[in-house]
Amino acid sequence: MPEKVQIRAIKGVRDILPPESRVWARVERAAQDVFGTFGFAEIRLPIFEQTELFARSVGGDTDIVGKEMYTFRDPVETAEGLFKAAFESFPDKVEREELPEDIRSMLAQSTPNVPLDKWKKISLTLPMLSEAMAHGESVSLRPEATASVVRAYIEHGMHTLPGDVKLYYMGPMFRRERPQKGRYRQFYQIGAEVLGQSDAPGIDAELIEMLFAFFGRVGLEGLTLDLNSIGCKECRPKYVELLRAELLKVKDKLGADSQRRIETNPLRVLDSKAPDEQAIIEELPRISDHLCEACKIHFAEVRRQLDIRGITYNLNWRLVRGLDYYMRTTFEITAPGLGSQNAVCGGGRYDGLVELLGGLPTKGIGFAIGEDRLMLSLEAAGKVVAEPSVDAFIVWMGASTQATAIKVAQRLRAAGIKVELPPEEFKFKKALGLADKLGARYAILIGENEIAAGKFTLKRLADAVQTSVTEVELLETLRAD
Ligand code: ATP
Ligand code: MG
Repeated sequence: MPEKVQIRAIKGVRDILPPESRVWARVERAAQDVFGTFGFAEIRLPIFEQTELFARSVGGDTDIVGKEMYTFRDPVETAEGLFKAAFESFPDKVEREELPEDIRSMLAQSTPNVPLDKWKKISLTLPMLSEAMAHGESVSLRPEATASVVRAYIEHGMHTLPGDVKLYYMGPMFRRERPQKGRYRQFYQIGAEVLGQSDAPGIDAELIEMLFAFFGRVGLEGLTLDLNSIGCKECRPKYVELLRAELLKVKDKLGADSQRRIETNPLRVLDSKAPDEQAIIEELPRISDHLCEACKIHFAEVRRQLDIRGITYNLNWRLVRGLDYYMRTTFEITAPGLGSQNAVCGGGRYDGLVELLGGLPTKGIGFAIGEDRLMLSLEAAGKVVAEPSVDAFIVWMGASTQATAIKVAQRLRAAGIKVELPPEEFKFKKALGLADKLGARYAILIGENEIAAGKFTLKRLADAVQTSVTEVELLETLRAD
């Protein structure tokens, strides 16, 4: 006898089962519909990428890259991969400068599609190369998708497309966080990005307008929009230095996390939820008093554009966002019913990111909605109503009626009606009992008498009212209801 094992889903991930999965599908369709009306098109992205993509864009100092990514080694398959692996294993032996001509031509022949100009000088012995090869390339499950969108934008030369490039995506993200309500290790985001030459504040406002149109469509209410500007590379570094200096003065009164962040990422201290740090944070200098002229004008115009659209917001100077690449406009939307994990959407502008990843200077702004939390909030508001999964249950009686039952099922399904057809003959009582348990709205009774008369018996299960109908009338009734 084989040993009995029970394999369960791993910690922090979960299955989304019917009927809940139907609500997820409805929410995703709403996103497709609403975003489509704003001119956004879907981009489908890989779930894993080179680790370097996230390290560069999200930032090495962030919790995400520092400790939350699922990273693993993939065996090397290309010359470029080998150099990358070699660079990671022996950084002082590989330079991105000058590659000897003989190696270059050898590699150009063996792997014509690999760009070698990035990898110029290499001084590795054979054992080192084979070690690097075994070590492999570092890849990571994506913790977020903006970096991938930007990578794809550059890789496919999308800057040549007319107008702003407006893309949305949806799918799973992975972060090794402490699992709790509204926080999972595999969670789902629906996000959108606008990339192009313009940073007109109207883009920021329209993106937020689109979010509210979407939340309105799915029926999520009681939302709060927090808004801030965190400046640009002109004014933010000066503010961060000032903040760091002020934080150093109160360092002893801060907790360990905040103390560490004074060095690594002082803006993140503003994010702290620690109760005894709140009074101290309130006294810190505020970015709004230190924005440069251009950022002040941009922010004022974003607010005016929101006003025109009738969108209300709270100014929140402590809203900084965790990712390094944000600048100017940042926003977060919180929803009721979620406890402390109440942010359902975060977003902001990232005008330097495309360049940081090797593209041309490009403006960008985007958001990501946490779909799991959106669903929890809908549930808390009693908005997760399972639609019936069966419109009509066909009860066929007598082997000679099966062929007719199959044809009726085919025609009803082709008309979009959800039909359950027993695969073998069921006793009448069992069939009706099952129709009831499945929540079917109607039972269609097909027996030899019905076939002879050219009519079916249609039974409405809610009140057991029975009518005798032709197939045309059957379709009309089911459609109308
Ligand atoms: P939080 O402060 O709640 O950790 P975050 O700043 O890390 O959020 P973002 O990276 O901006 O979140 O992601 C956007 C949205 O994705 C969040 O507002 C949230 O709704 C959702 N989200 C982020 N991490 C998780 C997670 N581990 N589980 C479920 N949803 C998440
Ligand atoms: Mg987080």
